[in-house]
Amino acid sequence: MASKGFVSTLDRYDAIVIGAGVAGLTAAAALAHRSLSTLLVERHNVPGGCASFYQRDGYRFDVGATLVGGFGPRGVHRLFNAELGIDVSPEPIEPSMVVHLPDVSVTRYGDERWRGERLRAFGPAAEPFWERQERIADLAYDFSMGFPALPYDVASIATLARAFRPRHLPLLATLGRTVASIMPAAPSARLRSFVDAQLLITAQTNAAGADLAYGATALDLAREGTFHLPDGISTISVALARSIQRAGSSIVYNQSVVAIETRRGRVCAVRLGDGTRIRTSRVISALPISNTIELCPEIDHAFRPRLAALPERWGAFMLYVGLPPASVPADLPTHHQLVGAYDEPPGEGNTAFLSFSGSTELRRARNGGRAVTISTHTDVARWERAERDGTVDALRTRYTRRLEAALDRVVPGASRRAVVLEAATPMTFARYTGRARGLVGGLPQTPRNATLGAIGHRTPVTGLYLCGDSTFPGQSTVGATLSGVNAARAAIDRFS
Ligand SMILES: Cc1cc2nc3c(=O)[nH]c(=O)nc-3n(C[C@H](O)[C@H](O)[C@H](O)COP(=O)(O)OP(=O)(O)OC[C@H]3O[C@@H](n4cnc5c(N)ncnc54)[C@H](O)[C@@H]3O)c2cc1C
Repeated sequence: MASKGFVSTLDRYDAIVIGAGVAGLTAAAALAHRSLSTLLVERHNVPGGCASFYQRDGYRFDVGATLVGGFGPRGVHRLFNAELGIDVSPEPIEPSMVVHLPDVSVTRYGDERWRGERLRAFGPAAEPFWERQERIADLAYDFSMGFPALPYDVASIATLARAFRPRHLPLLATLGRTVASIMPAAPSARLRSFVDAQLLITAQTNAAGADLAYGATALDLAREGTFHLPDGISTISVALARSIQRAGSSIVYNQSVVAIETRRGRVCAVRLGDGTRIRTSRVISALPISNTIELCPEIDHAFRPRLAALPERWGAFMLYVGLPPASVPADLPTHHQLVGAYDEPPGEGNTAFLSFSGSTELRRARNGGRAVTISTHTDVARWERAERDGTVDALRTRYTRRLEAALDRVVPGASRRAVVLEAATPMTFARYTGRARGLVGGLPQTPRNATLGAIGHRTPVTGLYLCGDSTFPGQSTVGATLSGVNAARAAIDRFS
């Protein structure tokens, strides 16, 4: 599928994109489809980054991301794929997930059943919150359909202003506020825990931390639609990679960019790990911002203070479980979130997210078994300490037991039947995705860091653009796609 990367020091490209995660693939595809000669450089041997896959003993596991959004009528994946002529055959799934709280399970329906379900779980006192959340989300989605970018100069402010309609005015009132500001003053443990857990996986923070417009949209995931793709979430990346190559551009795998070279404040080349220097005047870095700073110290002053003020913290601990046929009820919903105890902090095994392949998906699990991906947020500093102390193995075992217990809560006895059981720590993410310290999910989407406060696609270096989940609009394959479109647009503008 890929060019094996016979690039030479003599090659010159209109643009070079670094990193074949969803953001980099999107940016490269957008450039390639505008007939710009584009080289996409990826350090791993497959595309997808945090939304990629790996195969073991007949099972194909989603490595990180599992839940597919963005294919509804207003969905970013649907709109962008239509532009490129890509069809990945998304099928809506309903319900989008079940959230298992300590004393009740809440089914996240995307249709009118959600109202009854939330009334049952959270009571009428929470209704004004849900109604406001949905109104804000509707407006934010409506506005985002124009693929807005963060404004960086007078012309782009004017473009943004043109996308803004009088009906979007209430969005201005959300600026600087958090989700907690529209919740009941003393929410029940159920409501607080449910909202916090849902925001943790979509905004990397809780209701007290999450930006209101961002968080309201993130909480709307089920209404916007959740989808099934034939090979899991990596279907998106594989299709984009094919589309780039069909458009005549190249992807080189198993190669890292080790430096972005500049001359007099302009990009002039990138250098690969094998010493190859490739000339270009446009680079899109689709890596986390902390990685890009390492490759191009000239941008350090612009971004380092932001990162110091708002440190990223979350890594992921994962369990990949291959189950034999008939070990899971055929009608089990695809996705589940678990909260262990109301009075324990989120992550670290007290919250977990589980996704199951379907019983008839033979490409994902042989003989109708199930490929299960389970994740929990974890503080990377904990793993760094364990590495220093030589206690990583013990920590891995402890977290493995916690996630096995989570699996057994959803499907009693399932962990005993596992025929594949492998764990991944933040160090595994650092190794396979190159992300600094194994940090994933981008920056927490607080008011300081979301929407107008986010890191945009511009840098102080001419010809260097950013995308990926540490830039606007933030994490998820949907956010990564939007950021890739914005960066490509800016790079294309320089050519037109
Ligand atoms: C455990 C987990 C669960 C998640 N769940 C969901 C979910 O259910 N739904 C959802 O939509 N999102 C989810 N996300 C978030 C989503 O996966 C990410 O936000 C998104 O995939 C990030 O894409 P990206 O392109 O910005 O970065 P990445 O996916 O990190 O891609 C970066 C790419 O750059 C490559 N690279 C790194 N350094 C170099 C270098 N020097 N040279 C060349 N290549 C390099 C890496 O190998 C990688 O392929 C989850 C993330 C995790 C970790």
